[in-house]
Amino acid sequence: MPGKVRVAFMQLSSCWGCHQSLLNAHLGLLSILPKLEIVYWPAVVDFKHESLVNRPDGDIVVGFIEGVARTKEDTANVKLMRRKCKIIVALGACACYGSVKGLANLFDKEELVKRKFMEAESITNEDPKEPTEHVPGFEDHIINVKDLIDVDVFIPGCPPRTENIVAAISYLFTLLAPGPENLDKNKTVCDSCDLYKKGCFLDNNQLCYGGITAGGCELMCPNKGEICYGCFKATSKPGPKAKQLKEILDNTLKLTPEVGANLQRFLDIYLGVSNITNFYFRGDLLQRLAYEPESFSTKEINGKMVLDVKPTGNQLLDEIIGRALHLLKDDPSFKFSTKTVCSHCDRDVADKVPIDLKRDYEGLPTMDKCFLEQGYICLGPVTQAGCGAICPNKANAPCLGCYGAPVGVKDQGAKFISALGSLCADKDPEEIMKVIKDPAGLFNRFTLADSTIKHKYHDVTE
Ligand code: SF4
Ligand code: SF4
Ligand code: SF4
Repeated sequence: MPGKVRVAFMQLSSCWGCHQSLLNAHLGLLSILPKLEIVYWPAVVDFKHESLVNRPDGDIVVGFIEGVARTKEDTANVKLMRRKCKIIVALGACACYGSVKGLANLFDKEELVKRKFMEAESITNEDPKEPTEHVPGFEDHIINVKDLIDVDVFIPGCPPRTENIVAAISYLFTLLAPGPENLDKNKTVCDSCDLYKKGCFLDNNQLCYGGITAGGCELMCPNKGEICYGCFKATSKPGPKAKQLKEILDNTLKLTPEVGANLQRFLDIYLGVSNITNFYFRGDLLQRLAYEPESFSTKEINGKMVLDVKPTGNQLLDEIIGRALHLLKDDPSFKFSTKTVCSHCDRDVADKVPIDLKRDYEGLPTMDKCFLEQGYICLGPVTQAGCGAICPNKANAPCLGCYGAPVGVKDQGAKFISALGSLCADKDPEEIMKVIKDPAGLFNRFTLADSTIKHKYHDVTE
């Protein structure tokens, strides 16, 4: 890697747990720290806020943000980080979804201030009032970091497991690395391909990506009868075969399962390592197609629809990638496998149907059987994998959902309510609601600020 990677860490309103989880890597940090130039990390290094403000925009490569925008200072710091950093990482459930603090969106700011500063049982001051001096003032409600600025990477968890943070940082290093020593961006794989002149895969209408892939590869899959999927990444001088590839894609109207699998494998390899379950990297367009297909805009080029993306900065290459993504979008052959906490849970599962629902303090669950089947609410089925199912496996505690919703689920709480409704179809809803005292806090404990409800409570009038 050329030089050190300049990084900054920002803490908004939060508990510091996510940063602590990173520090918990202990000796594991030895492989990371020498590669970092830390320029701002208020809780660990004594850099002043002014030093961050005075840096040129875009000067920092990666900025990690922990916490939620509760105060006006938080909001200003979120925007400051976006200006100063090329890549923004939302570190932890608060920065990703609002986390437990997002539940405050169920109340007005005035109610919260009254409760916190005037009514709390711990207050001993005889004339308690809201502090107004030397404090930044509160936002009306918590707005997710991703709704304030563009976020590039999401590392969920409350806190994210140390291994997940280290893996995400190591992955980002691989993206910033210059590539193999013999990589030659002025050439393509086709330049060394034995098939070039005697009829290649493309001439038989088979998709091969050598014409858009940088040269220098010694393995040369096409010379062994295999398609080039582009692991040497984008060339800066696409060859004539690039245009031939684009023509084939332009003339493809419907995908067969084989072509769909081919396109997906190409994008996987060419754009980076997607399908990593413990974090979401928006720059990985295939992952983004699975998580947020609606976030892409579509454009028409010469009568062909493409997704408007610019991963390489080369117009022809970007159009080929945009066309491939457009063909995969909404196609049944596009499969982005995602796992939930249940898939890493060691407990015995029959059908997950609860016998009698219980509050979590009632009785003592056994260590071997699915929590739901024992009657305890467990959000494992609607929670993205990545933590290793640590609560059900190690703590004899149901999953509370801190890794957020898996791919394709927009609202973790709504999805669980729907699942519970199906599992308890033979039960009286009134009886179920007697056990569920706080639906939002139970089902959207970590994701309310990112749910369908968001902060709409404030929109409701009598
Ligand atoms: S597109 Fe593939 S098969 Fe055709 S010349 Fe290039 S590398 Fe060889
Ligand atoms: S205990 Fe929870 S995480 Fe484990 S299988 Fe049951 S529902 Fe899933
Ligand atoms: S089991 Fe659930 S609550 Fe526990 S760490 Fe994993 S995702 Fe979070």
